[in-house]
Amino acid sequence: MQTSWDAVVVGSGIGGLAAAAALSTCGKRVLVLERHAQPGGLTQTFQRQGWRFNVGVHYLGGFGPAETNRRVLDHIAGGRIEMVPIAGAHDRIRLPGLTLPYAPPRAALLRVLKDAFPREAAGIDAYFEAIDRAAATMGTALMARNMPGPLGAPLAWLRRREIERWVGRTTWQVVQEVTDDPQLRAALTAQWIDYGSRPAESSFGVHALVTRSYLGGAWYPVGGSAVFGRELGRTIGEGGGEIRTRAEVAHITVEGRRVTGVQLRSGEHVASRCVISDAGAHNTLRLLPSGEVDYGWAKDIVELEASTGYIGLYLGLSGDVAAAGADAANTWIYESWDVNRGWDDPQTEPRAPALLVSFPSLRDPSHEPGPQRRHTCEIVALVNWSAFAKWDHSDDPDGMAAGAAREKDYAALKARLTRSLLAQFGEHFPSLAPMVQFAEASTPITVASFTGAEHGAMYGLATTPRRFLSPALRSRTPIGGLLLAGQDACTPGVAGAMMGGLMAAANLEPQLWRLLR
Ligand SMILES: Cc1cc2nc3c(=O)[nH]c(=O)nc-3n(C[C@H](O)[C@H](O)[C@H](O)COP(=O)(O)OP(=O)(O)OC[C@H]3O[C@@H](n4cnc5c(N)ncnc54)[C@H](O)[C@@H]3O)c2cc1C
Repeated sequence: MQTSWDAVVVGSGIGGLAAAAALSTCGKRVLVLERHAQPGGLTQTFQRQGWRFNVGVHYLGGFGPAETNRRVLDHIAGGRIEMVPIAGAHDRIRLPGLTLPYAPPRAALLRVLKDAFPREAAGIDAYFEAIDRAAATMGTALMARNMPGPLGAPLAWLRRREIERWVGRTTWQVVQEVTDDPQLRAALTAQWIDYGSRPAESSFGVHALVTRSYLGGAWYPVGGSAVFGRELGRTIGEGGGEIRTRAEVAHITVEGRRVTGVQLRSGEHVASRCVISDAGAHNTLRLLPSGEVDYGWAKDIVELEASTGYIGLYLGLSGDVAAAGADAANTWIYESWDVNRGWDDPQTEPRAPALLVSFPSLRDPSHEPGPQRRHTCEIVALVNWSAFAKWDHSDDPDGMAAGAAREKDYAALKARLTRSLLAQFGEHFPSLAPMVQFAEASTPITVASFTGAEHGAMYGLATTPRRFLSPALRSRTPIGGLLLAGQDACTPGVAGAMMGGLMAAANLEPQLWRLLR
């Protein structure tokens, strides 16, 4: 078969870009195909009336100068992406009557928790010990499943007991073991919005990996999250590759259980003996001819649920926001001590039980507020897809968001959600509310429309123990030459999705494993 590309990547999220850029550094020519008009997936940014917003990046963990994520990013981006540490607290957890500021070093966080819960010092120490052990085990489990079988399988077998103990149990199960205090349990699990599955449902392994990544502090990419698309695109271009936008893959073509390339929605066929999919595991399955798919593998994947959806509220502000109470931390607002709840039915429930509020422009040293002192605020509230499923216009030729926007009740709900979130924001940040000049909400319909995410999911597949124990979710698939990249092959988050991309590439170019030493 004649083929001009060493590999074709479906989707230009950070997972797909990382896979393509890593292969480019090994001399491979890679074509990245992206359905949307701009590259980056959830790392894309958008502008409204002069304010620029990120879609899927508030802050990044594990990007300190000596950390593995940074080494990998520097390799694939040629050292051109600059990260700045978030000064002071990177998270501030507000529970009724208690605010916990989280800032490095780790000892400071321990002190904050022990001051707030003086009788629970032993439980807090036990929790941090569990975090260390679970994060290390999770790292090993992810490596083992993504390495080629002869290397990965023995490693997983040797560590099977630890994997079952730390990855196979929920966050709530482990936290219940370390403390009886319901308020401490709530405080320790409040950051679950970072990986999108409630403490009662999430694997403690993902909780530990994500939480631990911020113990050394949090980072922000100078210039905002669009730098990932720009700089990784440059690496891909320098290697003779290309990113094509508005190029939706309609089918991955397979013959005799081996990929032969992809067919675009336009009808064009691009031949390649290697296809890496960053489109998400469920979407990848939909792109495959059913007759060529291994039944057991497909069943394992189909049975995994999509993660939660979310409402995003993007605010443009004008004025001295720092003097009015904004800072660089993420503020996690819980309206009650029941942190296990999302906004299950925004149609009937007037207020979100939890909000994540951040001011990205205060983190970015390249942000120029100008004479109008422009700043941005991004708010996230988790919701169920079921509340939006009736506006699923995936067959609309103009796109899902355009289809839904034509329906009056959808537009009315969106307007009501905007008002209600604005009012809630105003209660918590009364001095900032008068500075809001612009507000726009996104729903799971918006996310599904712009990234193709199933059910507008915030983080790909739900981060349950079952997902992380499933043998189906790994770089290699039963179809020769087809690999999975991105968050579903590893963990949610920019670092997790990037590693998912890197490990897919390392299955083709083993020299790349050395970056993970
Ligand atoms: C609101 C929000 C806040 C977040 N905050 C943070 C944070 O602060 N820190 C952090 O580390 N992570 C955060 N995340 C998570 C992080 O953004 C994601 O985990 C990560 O970007 C996912 O990357 P990916 O490459 O796996 O997938 P995606 O970014 O979803 O990329 C998939 C790409 O595939 C394309 N595609 C799909 N189907 C096709 C097709 N058939 N043909 C061509 N292209 C296709 C899509 O258009 C998309 O561009 C956040 C996410 C959200 C939604």
